[in-house]
Amino acid sequence: MQHRLIWFRDDLRVTDNAAVSAALDCDPDTQISAVFLTADTEWASFGYGANRLYYTEQLLTNLSKNLASLGVSLTVIRLETYHDQVAWIRQFCATESVSDLYFNQEYQWNERLRDRHILENSGAITVHAFVDRVLLQPSTVLTGDERFYSVFSPFKRRWLSIYQNQGVRPFTLPNRPRAAVPPGQWLSLCDRPDSDLSQFPMTEEDAKLTLEDFVTHRLGQYDRARNQPDVLGTSRLSGALARGLLSPRQCIQAAEDLVQRPIWEFPDNAFSWINELIWRDFYQHLLVGFPRLSKNRAFRPETEALIWRNIPAEIDAWKAGRTGIPIVDAGMRELRATGWMHNRVRMIVAQFLTKNLLCDWRIGEAHFMQYLVDSDLGANNGGWQWSASTGTDAAPYFRVFNPVSQSEAHDPQANYISHWIPELLKMPVKKRHAPWSGSIPQGYTAPIVDLKSSRQRAIDAFKDLKS
Ligand SMILES: Cc1cc2nc3c(=O)[nH]c(=O)nc-3n(C[C@H](O)[C@H](O)[C@H](O)COP(=O)(O)OP(=O)(O)OC[C@H]3O[C@@H](n4cnc5c(N)ncnc54)[C@H](O)[C@@H]3O)c2cc1C
Repeated sequence: MQHRLIWFRDDLRVTDNAAVSAALDCDPDTQISAVFLTADTEWASFGYGANRLYYTEQLLTNLSKNLASLGVSLTVIRLETYHDQVAWIRQFCATESVSDLYFNQEYQWNERLRDRHILENSGAITVHAFVDRVLLQPSTVLTGDERFYSVFSPFKRRWLSIYQNQGVRPFTLPNRPRAAVPPGQWLSLCDRPDSDLSQFPMTEEDAKLTLEDFVTHRLGQYDRARNQPDVLGTSRLSGALARGLLSPRQCIQAAEDLVQRPIWEFPDNAFSWINELIWRDFYQHLLVGFPRLSKNRAFRPETEALIWRNIPAEIDAWKAGRTGIPIVDAGMRELRATGWMHNRVRMIVAQFLTKNLLCDWRIGEAHFMQYLVDSDLGANNGGWQWSASTGTDAAPYFRVFNPVSQSEAHDPQANYISHWIPELLKMPVKKRHAPWSGSIPQGYTAPIVDLKSSRQRAIDAFKDLKS
């Protein structure tokens, strides 16, 4: 008799899951098992924090219930490394007579090595590896001379033409009912998060409702509201997408259902949200095309020569939200308190760290990895290297964000900074963006750096690098 094993990773859902749909497409008496394997030591070396692990734990609980209703029992096994995972899979397949292994591809370097090993040493087991995490398979969106794109705009044009031809659609669950089984039980991955994660959807149903709510009420205004951190202008689905509680196909389907057109015919305002999903794909494709991105290396090798200042007291102040620059401090406090930060503010705090403090982007990347619920190597590395002007398609080094103008432009009523820095409430609204222009309120701090001279210092450092 056939025995199928589904190996879950960051794809913790049953709806529109390529591996799940394929594995469940069989006679109801076929044995199906499901497993989620940790790699605790390896994940600690990647800097995965309590927020990510705790969120994963909640999603596993939900997944286990959903699978049980489909007649599949989920087992969670705590292991130390990817090497252990390979050994566990091999052992389980041998002792339990597994005939077919199903999983969705991952694109970071270590994960790809692990999966390649599984595929090349599968023996009698048939391995089914699916494209699920991204909309288009990395290595299919290439330049005319078959290279990976390193600039977003031409990538997007090619991506759209392939997408239009391919017609990507969600995967459906086969209608082959099986008898329900009890949900699995396991040793907890993480007992307590570092932050209050209550804003994130914890079940597939929650994620679908959040998506529906966003598409119905905010997609039309996304273009206008997406840069304002004080309003609910974006979907806040990044945690669900990163951990695979939701798929990008479901996002596109929901948007197309509302707009009643395919994405390539979307009006500009609605397309600007799809654009972000294409950025998400772009960063996964880059991981495959440029393995050094998974190895702590800069995309632009010449920037490896940059001499970063890396002053510990300044780094601590940045992490704690005590730099004296309100928009930076608000963002860093939001991150600690909630495990999430608004995209505009992510760019501001990242530029402040790498340009005004001239601190190595890897330090910021690691801090984000520790706290973000949506932590994802591709997007995080991409965002940091973009901000630090070391990456693909990066911000030009001489265009350094001024955090005060950014704050005035994107948080004009100072609602966001006042929420996260109550010390500022004693000041007139207009002065809150740069409190040092008046007398700094008690309890708040003077800027740890002069914005003008530190901007010039960064430009000089990058300029020297070029010559
Ligand atoms: C320094 C820095 C670090 C970042 N680290 C991460 C990270 O670890 N994980 C992560 O998912 N995003 C990261 N981002 C991208 C972006 O900030 C978040 O995806 C976004 O803020 C999530 O909010 P949302 O779900 O409301 O997004 P929406 O605006 O609703 O966008 C929809 C989805 O598109 C994707 N997306 C949006 N913007 C980007 C982007 N610039 N790059 C890649 N994907 C994007 C996300 O999956 C997001 O949920 C980072 C950005 C910067 C500047």
